[in-house]
Amino acid sequence: MKVIVIGGGIIGCLTACFLKQRGADVVVLERGKTGQEASWAGAGILCPIHPWLYPDAFSHLMDASLALYPDLQATLMEETGIDPEWLQSGLMIPLFDDDVIHHRDDALAWSKKFDWHVDILDAQAAKQQEPCLNSAHLDGALLWKDVAQIRNPRLLQAVRVWMKKLAIEIHEHDEVSSLIESSTGKVCGVKNSQGMAYYGDAVLLAGGSWTGELAKNMGFSLPVQPVKGQMLLLKGQPNLVRHIIKHDDAYFVPRKDGRILVGASMEFVGFERGNTANIMQHLKDSIQKLTPSLAGLDIEHQWMGFRPGTPDGLPFLGAITEKEGLWVASGHYRNGVGLAPITAQVMSQYMLGETPDVDLTAFDAQRSMPEHSAIGFPDI
Ligand SMILES: Cc1cc2nc3c(=O)[nH]c(=O)nc-3n(C[C@H](O)[C@H](O)[C@H](O)COP(=O)(O)OP(=O)(O)OC[C@H]3O[C@@H](n4cnc5c(N)ncnc54)[C@H](O)[C@@H]3O)c2cc1C
Repeated sequence: MKVIVIGGGIIGCLTACFLKQRGADVVVLERGKTGQEASWAGAGILCPIHPWLYPDAFSHLMDASLALYPDLQATLMEETGIDPEWLQSGLMIPLFDDDVIHHRDDALAWSKKFDWHVDILDAQAAKQQEPCLNSAHLDGALLWKDVAQIRNPRLLQAVRVWMKKLAIEIHEHDEVSSLIESSTGKVCGVKNSQGMAYYGDAVLLAGGSWTGELAKNMGFSLPVQPVKGQMLLLKGQPNLVRHIIKHDDAYFVPRKDGRILVGASMEFVGFERGNTANIMQHLKDSIQKLTPSLAGLDIEHQWMGFRPGTPDGLPFLGAITEKEGLWVASGHYRNGVGLAPITAQVMSQYMLGETPDVDLTAFDAQRSMPEHSAIGFPDI
């Protein structure tokens, strides 16, 4: 079986590896360079953002994915020598006295239901665990010690080297523009923007935020749209921030070497690239408000990326029924790095005729979308 994967982000690349390990021949076509879009730009927090807002099927999928990370980290280290820095730094939600309290109750109820160990800290304990927090108005915190993070650029570097080792064909600077269909209507390949054809038995659409546009060009509809996120990087030292800190205004992710990521905006502005002064100012204001001791650190870098948003916040995982031979793994929104291992696992199983480890009904590409959702893309 030969599979053509459109898109070289974490979803396309890792699924390619899992497909190859299960015996398929795989070709990955990437418009730019692999791993340079959302998968590079993200924060690498390996935990759902506001999981209590999602249906249970999402939490089960995420749990299954996170359970695969230690093995994936070990495989990547062994096969490539590159350390993606999977690190259980824990995640803290500080509670300030003007914060909305339902977060606390919903977060606790969700943690109990899904058996995620959480410590409830008073203000003094919170400050002891995380000295950088602003003491003013600090009421306490919730701390999930087991939550991990990964360093996106290194993860993508490692996966790319692994792909090479697995002899996966990678074509960069190769933009897919259309499908090739047989006389019976079965998808049997793709054409790139130069008109060059690639033939295969199955095609996987993993174009991240561009999946919606790609689908439209291919003659069907899939509501995936970009949700822009801007971030900045502080030049810190190790232990200045000890846990991932998540607040409604901003989150902080401390890397092993002391650098601290601060993010991220949620902007519905189409594919408008670049950082903007107002968002950068908002992030700086958030640093001042939540962790004033970090406000004097140099800003080393700033960047942005496009999250592949869907109306209900859930990814599309499965077959496109109106196009036999076409599959999709896209729309992972704020959770694509966390969900990458299980996506690769279930898609490789499903595409090769095995029963996926997880029930994918909730992620069906043909499901109906809600009119309003607390988590999804609002304007579709
Ligand atoms: C600021 C920010 C913070 C984030 N934080 C987190 C986090 O902490 N944890 C988490 O789990 N997730 C996070 N995410 C979300 C996560 O990064 C994404 O869900 C995930 O990277 C999506 O992966 P992907 O492979 O689908 O998309 P991408 O990485 O965008 O890859 C899609 C690829 O498809 C290629 N492509 C598109 N069209 C074509 C075409 N026609 N032909 C060939 N190639 C094409 C693109 O060039 C691109 O390389 C964050 C995202 C952002 C932007």
